[in-house]
Amino acid sequence: MNKFNLDSIIRRNVKAMKAYSSARDEYQEINADYIFLDANENPFNNGLNRYPDPLQHNVKSILSEIKNFSAIQILLGNGSDEVLDLIFRAFCEPNLDNVIAISPSYGMYEVLANLNAIEYRKSLLNQTDFQPNLEDVFSKIDEKTKMIFLCSPNNPTGQIIKKDAILKIVNRFTGLVIIDEAYIDFATESSWIEEINNYPNVIVTQTLSKAVGLAGIRLGILYASQNIVAVLNKIKPPYNINQLTQLKAIEVLSDYDNVVAATNRIIQQKEVLEQALTEIYFVKKIYPSDANFILIKVDDANKRYKQLVEKGIVIRNRNNDDLCENCLRITVGTEQENQKLIQTLKTLQF
Ligand SMILES: *Cc1c(COP(=O)(O)O)cnc(C)c1O
Repeated sequence: MNKFNLDSIIRRNVKAMKAYSSARDEYQEINADYIFLDANENPFNNGLNRYPDPLQHNVKSILSEIKNFSAIQILLGNGSDEVLDLIFRAFCEPNLDNVIAISPSYGMYEVLANLNAIEYRKSLLNQTDFQPNLEDVFSKIDEKTKMIFLCSPNNPTGQIIKKDAILKIVNRFTGLVIIDEAYIDFATESSWIEEINNYPNVIVTQTLSKAVGLAGIRLGILYASQNIVAVLNKIKPPYNINQLTQLKAIEVLSDYDNVVAATNRIIQQKEVLEQALTEIYFVKKIYPSDANFILIKVDDANKRYKQLVEKGIVIRNRNNDDLCENCLRITVGTEQENQKLIQTLKTLQF
């Protein structure tokens, strides 16, 4: 049995501190028949003159239904970025602890580690299949390792990390395993949130920025044990999700069939794009993708990237990422945008 002990990995100052108690924490029912003279708000109603619900009950209640997951085990942040930052601040002691992440992967983990003065240890994926090298991951763990970041499907490689590999890490590592599922809605495999109640050291993060189509409102989601969520609730800024974001999230999530339909259209378009890319002579490799983007290897990534920009199409040059020499990452667009991309790629000479 894994010897994970949440209490022993919480930072001491976090354990000792008391959460800020906001006016809206004490009395939440803004709709009730009370007169609210408690928060120094402006009394004139313009729809946004009141502070938002600090625990976002209505958003969580819809998410809870969609995901079939208990609302009190959900934490929301100003994008995944805030959620990930909160995890660092709750569990990692600056200038002392370290975290491990697969590489190449999402750039924010390293930025947040640097910001929080936490050593960042990279474990290269296997070049052949972009799966974790478990032996290498395990060799990097020491008594100061607090978290392991696994992005699945991984950005920029596009592939899901096999369940079996994650299980081995979750079972053996006695710190937290963060599984970033920003792209899970595009994958055929199921989410790890189904497993959270079996593995108290697992944290899953998702976002409304990709499949749900709301990158502009900044809403990141964390799923974990009730105890982990309680620690993070204690340290988060009280009103971290603004009212406009909460309202828009509720509106869009209320018609989830529409979200699923849009996701399916993107998946379908990805297949069309993958097929078309096989006919471009300088595309050397198309990596399989469980996400809404495709990683390709070309003859000369810097050159092809520049040529496309000159034609008004911006993709991502991943040439400088580990294991990604001459790789480009292409986000799946609308049918029209993808057609334009393909036509443009076909015109690129030499
Ligand atoms: C896009 C992306 C996110 C989303 O971040 P937000 O701050 O929620 O917009 C998270 N993780 C990965 C790996 C991503 O690629």
